[in-house]
Amino acid sequence: MDLETLRHSCSHVMAQAVKKLWPSAKLAIGPSIADGFYYDFDKAEPFTPEDLEKIEKEMGQIIEDDLPFVREELSKKEAIKLFKKLKEDYKVELIEDLADEKVTIYKTGDKFIDLCRGPHVKSTGEIKAFKLLSVAGAYWHGIETNPMLQRIYGTCFGTKAELDNYLKLQEEAIKRDHRKLGSQLELFDFYYELAGAGLVLYHPKGAMLRTIIEDYEKREHLKRGYEIVITPHILKVDLWKKSGHYDYYKDNMYFFEIDDKTYAVKPMNCPGHMLIYKSKLRSYRDLPIRYFELGTVYRHEKSGVLHGLLRVRGFTQDDAHIFCTAEQAKDEIKAVVDFVFAVMKDFGFTDVGIELSTRPKKFIGSESDWDKATQALEDSLKEKNLSYKINPGDGAFYGPKIDIKLKDALNREWQCATIQCDFALPKKFDLTYTDSDGKEKRPIMLHRVILGSIERFIGALIEHYAGAFPLWLAPTQIMIIPIKDSAIDYAKDIEQRLKSQDLRVELDSRNETLNKKIREAEMQKIPYLVIIGEKEVGSSTIAVRKRGVGDLGAKEPQEFINELKQEILAKK
Ligand SMILES: [Zn+2]
Ligand SMILES: [Zn+2]
Repeated sequence: MDLETLRHSCSHVMAQAVKKLWPSAKLAIGPSIADGFYYDFDKAEPFTPEDLEKIEKEMGQIIEDDLPFVREELSKKEAIKLFKKLKEDYKVELIEDLADEKVTIYKTGDKFIDLCRGPHVKSTGEIKAFKLLSVAGAYWHGIETNPMLQRIYGTCFGTKAELDNYLKLQEEAIKRDHRKLGSQLELFDFYYELAGAGLVLYHPKGAMLRTIIEDYEKREHLKRGYEIVITPHILKVDLWKKSGHYDYYKDNMYFFEIDDKTYAVKPMNCPGHMLIYKSKLRSYRDLPIRYFELGTVYRHEKSGVLHGLLRVRGFTQDDAHIFCTAEQAKDEIKAVVDFVFAVMKDFGFTDVGIELSTRPKKFIGSESDWDKATQALEDSLKEKNLSYKINPGDGAFYGPKIDIKLKDALNREWQCATIQCDFALPKKFDLTYTDSDGKEKRPIMLHRVILGSIERFIGALIEHYAGAFPLWLAPTQIMIIPIKDSAIDYAKDIEQRLKSQDLRVELDSRNETLNKKIREAEMQKIPYLVIIGEKEVGSSTIAVRKRGVGDLGAKEPQEFINELKQEILAKK
């Protein structure tokens, strides 16, 4: 069965139930969405959780009655008259905005009529498994000056087992919410009132996690022939005009004045890298040139779309620009794809989806360059035998792109890597190189990120691992817990010994019970606890507990260090 039709039909049933319970509630719209459906209502009193239960019960009755969805066609005039009589002002407005002269309505039972194009299931009895999930405010047409409506979200599946599975995953997703775990594990926070929305402050543990990721990325880039560059956070507006960002992206940029000159906070790193490319004459022997920057950018996102680390206004990209000849482009793209897969594997993501996005309506450059660039991207994927989906018209304004999305432990997709092929910016900046025949030629520019926004990637990591990071990523790897004061000196020795081996250690010497200390360290999801009592002091050993496994018994400190080093190396 078509899930969309089923879910949309379920939204009608919900509206019918609401009208039965609250006849004066007015109906707005009720579409199916990715995970279910919603319906917007105009009702003075807010819906309570108890109301949702009542609505569900009423819906159960409508489904049991197995009412047919009956389609009728009316003229626009008749339809307006009908919905005016029903006092459904929003429906009247919708009909008035319709271009067609014919309007279709659907009746279920004798009392419920809805304006709708269809399609629906044949009768309400086909709905087998549904659940109402939540209520949220929503403006009519999404416009803030319009009345605020109440939106009830629900979901519906073909079978009860599928619904139960979905609800279980939802529950797990709530437990793993990176915003909640971010505070609990003291990784980061937002200070909306004082610091501003969409701006993240990393606390020491989050900053440690981020430093580990950044160090890893620098090493991996250097290994693969990239050079690290660093460019300013602010650059003159003239540069953004030259690059085209001003024309195509200014609504998302922040501008300000210094000494009567206008500057912009950088939303992207590309122009700076092109200036560095242009700093000297380039020969075909120099290419490809690969510049890598952990570039912090700022973009004006509407406050309504900001969401934890996933949508922020300031974030850092692991950004690189590859300047190469047309002949080199395909191999470079293939190498980037390999790079992405290797990095994802290291971070524990093995399932990815690939999409190819083509020319959007708003674009710079010539159509033939777009075709060539799209071809280069597509050929690379084909030669690597990778399956991909095409997103027509979804490319960036300066070039087509490959998007790589990773799938997390709950099978949800997260946007991470993109590879874009660009002929236009090298032209705008008049980038050249001298070819083997002595002629001046234009390089191709590849824009690419691997993790994408590091903020969003950290959000994905937190939710993928439910905060229990593998040893190589854990901000604190080991918590040492002395049982009594008499063990503190030995515990400090062990702490120093582990630290000198570059292990990230904390010592909990508070005057608390052993159980409390263990419980708190477990709440912090620290991979290893080292417990030290008189027995360990006497035998120069340590008692080790591993997260998710339990007691590993007594170990020689060196043996423990060796095991940890192996585990870190394996990134398990
Ligand atoms: Zn409908
Ligand atoms: Zn770029």
